[in-house]
Amino acid sequence: MSKANRQRKVIKTIGNYLLFFGLVAFPVTCTMVLFVSRLVVDLGLTLTEADVASAAKRTFANVIFLSLLFMVIDTIRRKLTVERTAGNIAEAAKKIVQGDFSVRVDTAGPFVDDNFTEIINCFNKMAEELSGVEMLRTDFISNVSHELKTPLAVMQNYASLLQTPGLPEEKRMEYAGAIADGSRRLSDMMTNILKLNRLENQQIYPQSESFNLGEQLAECLLSYENVWEKKEIELETDIEEDVLIHGDKELLSLVWGNLFSNAFKFTQEGGTVQVALFTADQYAVVKVRDTGCGISPETGPHIFEKFYQGDTSHATQGNGLGLALVKRVVDILQAEIGVESAVGKGTTFTVKIRRDMNGGVEKAL
Ligand code: ADP
Repeated sequence: MSKANRQRKVIKTIGNYLLFFGLVAFPVTCTMVLFVSRLVVDLGLTLTEADVASAAKRTFANVIFLSLLFMVIDTIRRKLTVERTAGNIAEAAKKIVQGDFSVRVDTAGPFVDDNFTEIINCFNKMAEELSGVEMLRTDFISNVSHELKTPLAVMQNYASLLQTPGLPEEKRMEYAGAIADGSRRLSDMMTNILKLNRLENQQIYPQSESFNLGEQLAECLLSYENVWEKKEIELETDIEEDVLIHGDKELLSLVWGNLFSNAFKFTQEGGTVQVALFTADQYAVVKVRDTGCGISPETGPHIFEKFYQGDTSHATQGNGLGLALVKRVVDILQAEIGVESAVGKGTTFTVKIRRDMNGGVEKAL
């Protein structure tokens, strides 16, 4: 303990003692004076000066002793109920400042005050949240690094191959194509990360407008025409006409884009993808059903997590961010998303969104 601390402690102890001395001296002196005067008046005792001096000395010694005793008792009480717990909290807070979020303060103990229990519970909850955020951050960094490394390694490989002298034109085109593919994947991933980041930080505020949902679904589906034709996937649509939505058109197109691209991606050649739109009360319901590989019960609970890819055989065709984006948009638009799936049979995603019942008239005005 430093000299200044020791001095502070001595001054504090003296202060404490004087406080107890004052608290004890006042009632004891009053009681003694009252007691003696009662004796003199009621019993007619005659007290000499020596008697009074002797009694006063004893009372003074008593006051000194009692003040000391109370101070010791109070110090022990404070040590047990306040200082020890406060010290534990301060110690834990220091560790958190140093970046150790695993620290927790013990709430158990017979002397821990109720108010402290409340503070400790909040403190432990805060430490838990912080360690969760830290884990998310480190996971995110390692996921991004991993996702960056794979296509970069592939591109490096093809770039080295391209340097081979006398390479036939056909090979040159193949390698250059692979590099272009890799860079497209990287760029897609960065676009998705940025979108997700902006959505999570609420930097995108929904731009509300009334639009025809069926038309949007059809437009979005058409952009995948070459994919379903290449895989000879049968596309069935059942789209109710004139279903209007009042919301952010661009954000919602992210949802359909990701659901359609997954349906086509996870459906084998010759399979079927169905897209249906119908209304149920004040809601518009979109169902995207495929006859693809399905989602296993182990994979199911994680599909909306960032970078999660359940089916590794399609890992090169995505980055596990699609459904995380979908979920975020669905939450922002206060819609609902559900999934039903059977391994080997297929998957159905259902999105339920409140529709514009005023036909866009009221809002347009
Ligand atoms: P990505 O498609 O890039 O892998 P997503 O976030 O879009 O990432 O999907 C996460 C995971 O959910 C996929 O890796 C896959 O395992 C599963 N999944 C999503 N949609 C389907 C689907 N239609 N059929 C089967 N599995 C799916």
